[in-house]
Amino acid sequence: MNPLELHRFGLLCVVSGPSGSGKTTLCHRLADEDEAADYAVSATTRPPREGEMDGEDYYFLSREEFEARVGNNEFLEHAEVHGNLYGTLKSEVITRLTAGHDVLIDIDVQGAELIRRHRNEMIHDAMIDVFILPPDGDALLERLRSRGTETEDQLALRLANAREEMKHWTDYQYTIISASKEKDFATFCSIVQGERCRTSRLLEQ
Ligand code: 5GP
Repeated sequence: MNPLELHRFGLLCVVSGPSGSGKTTLCHRLADEDEAADYAVSATTRPPREGEMDGEDYYFLSREEFEARVGNNEFLEHAEVHGNLYGTLKSEVITRLTAGHDVLIDIDVQGAELIRRHRNEMIHDAMIDVFILPPDGDALLERLRSRGTETEDQLALRLANAREEMKHWTDYQYTIISASKEKDFATFCSIVQGERCRTSRLLEQ
């Protein structure tokens, strides 16, 4: 503890960017390397890709199960992305924020907008948003192809969606123009560190 016994409110760090922008890797890496930050695992109706683990990469749900949880008001936000449902579970976020932990969420532009407009004041105050902007369209296609996780049809859909998503970068407080993995990570860490030092996030106990 510090001499003033300061308590810090957690950050809700929303990271968006087109598929292949590296946003998931950035969030996982910060959560792994920084004990004050946790990655909030989303729920989805998308089937798992090879190597993906339930509860680690996503909570993989059937559409019925997902819709039942929507009915139970379990989501902070949810949206349809690339033909599947995705959502942030309140249970992954609220307790951690209250305990002063930072929560990283990697969500699409629709989800980010829903969180920006959220009625809960704690969510509102905790939120910062970061957009990962690929340097150009060719780089994005190359990154998507090199993952090798999508069929040609899925690639075409993700590229079309990427063009739409990229129109929203000006809605975000921070933009990282993607360079190398290391540079992007260093920039991302600086943003989070800077936000942690905001006086308005500190409270004397
Ligand atoms: P992917 O299928 O490649 O894992 O994710 C596809 C898109 O869904 C990405 O843009 C990702 O950021 C977004 N996504 C992942 N989790 C969530 C979520 O909980 N809510 C919303 N709105 N989008 C999400």
